[in-house]
Amino acid sequence: MDHSFSNERFHTMTKIAFIGLGIMGAPMAANLVAAGHDVTGFNRSRAAVDTFISQGGSGAQSIEEAIAGAEIVVTMLPDSPDVESVLSGESGVFAHVPQGTLVIDFSTIRPDVAIRLAEEAAAVGVQMLDAPVSGGEAGAIEGVLSVMVGGSAEAFAQASAVFDAVGSTIVHVGPSGSGQTVKAANQLIVAGTMELVAEALVFLEAHGVDMEPAVKVLSGGLAGSTVLSRKAPNMLSRNFAPGFRVTLHDKDLGIVTAAAREAGVAIPLGAVVAQLMGSLKARGDGDLDHSALFTLVSELSGRSDDQTEG
Ligand code: NAD
Repeated sequence: MDHSFSNERFHTMTKIAFIGLGIMGAPMAANLVAAGHDVTGFNRSRAAVDTFISQGGSGAQSIEEAIAGAEIVVTMLPDSPDVESVLSGESGVFAHVPQGTLVIDFSTIRPDVAIRLAEEAAAVGVQMLDAPVSGGEAGAIEGVLSVMVGGSAEAFAQASAVFDAVGSTIVHVGPSGSGQTVKAANQLIVAGTMELVAEALVFLEAHGVDMEPAVKVLSGGLAGSTVLSRKAPNMLSRNFAPGFRVTLHDKDLGIVTAAAREAGVAIPLGAVVAQLMGSLKARGDGDLDHSALFTLVSELSGRSDDQTEG
């Protein structure tokens, strides 16, 4: 048996703590295991940890247990307060890891919070990168996420083994916080496109057009996009199981709206789609996929839909 490959992997193996094994975190952590790293996972609800163990990872009962001996600590959590509570304060990660540890936050959070956390990390000799991702659950499973990274060039270089295992487009976009600012722009584009795809499909259905060839030809022209090709099937089959939950996109549009206001920038279409996403959440659809914007457009057009799945 030739051992050269396993020796190579042994030399590049990194001990990683992965906190937050949700829709995105679970497949990302599994890809780190598949790349040969020693990964210990922790999640607030235990079932996700058990699933991760069945995929070859190690499980921890607490954050402290997960980060013991880790060279790199990764977080993939819902929102700014979640990341702050895990990293910051007396019981947080920063207070317990040795100097020189690298913390990579893949979550989508407020840019100002990312900057403050990076400052706190630096004060205790820890390097921190904000590294929000795009590409959805499918991109996470396939390991082809787009990763927009803010932080020092040195920390970026140190994180390459982790990034290579989860993504295919990995770009250092500037200092701390800038990864989150680019991600906010990403969420603006995705939400606006999603709304227009929903409106176009409701429009086409109302005209009795054969939908499959219509989507096919649209996908090949200037109207083509990843949102159209990945989300039109959900809309046409009325399958709105997440994916990316409405609650999370509503959070992100709050981030975009605040950051645009701070910069004195007008985002009129962004403001409209933020209202529509907020309305979906307010009426109780927060746990559906964001492609459920389609249901709102249908109802605004008086087209009731009895085929919708949750
Ligand atoms: P999710 O809700 O499925 O996963 C979050 C996980 O974190 C859950 O399993 C939850 O139990 C766990 N968690 C929460 N607080 C915790 C804590 N204090 N300690 C340990 N575990 C905790 O969310 P997701 O869809 O995986 O999204 C995660 C982040 O990635 C969000 O910021 C989201 O905006 C972003 N994102 C999501 C997608 C997507 O398509 N789902 C795409 C790109 C970016």
